[in-house]
Amino acid sequence: MYQAVIGVEVHFELSTETKLFCRCRNSFGEAENTLCCPVCLGLPGALPVINSRAVEYAISVGLALGCRVNSSTRFDRKSYFYPDMPNEYQTTQAFIPICVDGCVEYELDGEVKSVGIHEIHLEDDAGKLIHSDNGTRINYNRAGVPLIEIVTEPELHTAEETVAFLEELRLRMSYLGISDCKMQEGSMRVDVNLSVHKPDQPLGTRTEIKNLNSFRAVANAIKNETQRQIKVIENGGTVIQETRRFDDVKGVSTVMRSKETHEDYRFFPEPNLPPMYITDAQIDHIRTNLPEFASKRQKRLCTYYGISSADAKIITADRLVADYFEAVASLCDQREAANRIVRDLMQKQRETKIHITESHLTAEKLAEIINLFVSDRISRRTSREVADVAFCEPIDVSDYIEKNGLFQITDEQVISDAARSVISENAAVVNDYRNGKSAAFSYLVGETIKRLNGRASPQIVNKMVDLMLKSNKNL
Ligand SMILES: [Zn+2]
Repeated sequence: MYQAVIGVEVHFELSTETKLFCRCRNSFGEAENTLCCPVCLGLPGALPVINSRAVEYAISVGLALGCRVNSSTRFDRKSYFYPDMPNEYQTTQAFIPICVDGCVEYELDGEVKSVGIHEIHLEDDAGKLIHSDNGTRINYNRAGVPLIEIVTEPELHTAEETVAFLEELRLRMSYLGISDCKMQEGSMRVDVNLSVHKPDQPLGTRTEIKNLNSFRAVANAIKNETQRQIKVIENGGTVIQETRRFDDVKGVSTVMRSKETHEDYRFFPEPNLPPMYITDAQIDHIRTNLPEFASKRQKRLCTYYGISSADAKIITADRLVADYFEAVASLCDQREAANRIVRDLMQKQRETKIHITESHLTAEKLAEIINLFVSDRISRRTSREVADVAFCEPIDVSDYIEKNGLFQITDEQVISDAARSVISENAAVVNDYRNGKSAAFSYLVGETIKRLNGRASPQIVNKMVDLMLKSNKNL
């Protein structure tokens, strides 16, 4: 029985204001080649300066992943030629990465597992090639954008484990708020290293799979490559160390290039940048400012607000949603708040592609709607309808309910008058009720609500019909 041995290299673009070694703005989707200067274009004589914010971000990632931060570190040149890289080398950390030896716990099917983090290093991104029928253009806006590369130990074994780990990793990165973490825009990129062996035998030769732009593609590529390597070995062949490209649409991988060795890159220390020294005080300062991460927050939301663990998990899967929930829950019934967010608003968010926090339904408005429902001023159905409208339009909640006649009738006198006439007109049904037919009671309640144009509070109607039937035995 073969086992796959998997390690991943995950790149995140850091959302700093400026690039790693120059003052050009770091921004996605701007006009081509407008965010460039002599430094990020690699012009002769231009000198890089380290962006200290990027260094802080990298340290915070290291601490979030349980790493040790190296007190002295430096940058190195990784030489290779590619048109999207103006310098003809990438500035990276080949020898002394900023963070090492971490460990991340993640959950799969209710079981807690862990994977070691070998290292995290800081490096600059390349530009982007844009291929079209008329040829290829190069956009250097991305050249010099800070990246961190997180390298795990080869301690994963299945597609499911790898994706569960990547989800946990993305969640922590999003809680840190230092990267957009969007795979489809390339701000999170995953490369998979994979080999297969029989557990009692030495490790096999690994291949690297690139070009994975969704978790689904990661899972498919792992399954595909595991089977491919097993087949090669079973047929008496040898797995070749190479870099492969996975096509998720066709479900096949093809060779990109035979794997370069370390020597091919001619690594050497970057002469234009001084070594960096990181003090314990700096590390402590960053550590104290780390956010409360999702798994911890999930537990707190359960105990503090009394919501279910399943709801808390959904809410904390997005830090902004969790913040929104806490803002709503501080103003109204907490379980109802969780219920609305998980059942209604997440659905609305998917449909409209508008994030809850960017909708018109502020935490205050949602709490107002919930309070009106809990105090029986509006029905559950109305409360959902109003929330739905308030999500897309900047309405005043009370005004809207008033104008549309959606407030429930709660006046006991009005309700008992209606109930009385319904009861007196339905002698046969009242008789059925006396003979123990429970459906007869529901019918009388329904008729009373109908008589009040469907706007009466069902609880009060129930109470009034019940009182009336009991007190007028001879009715
Ligand atoms: Zn620049």
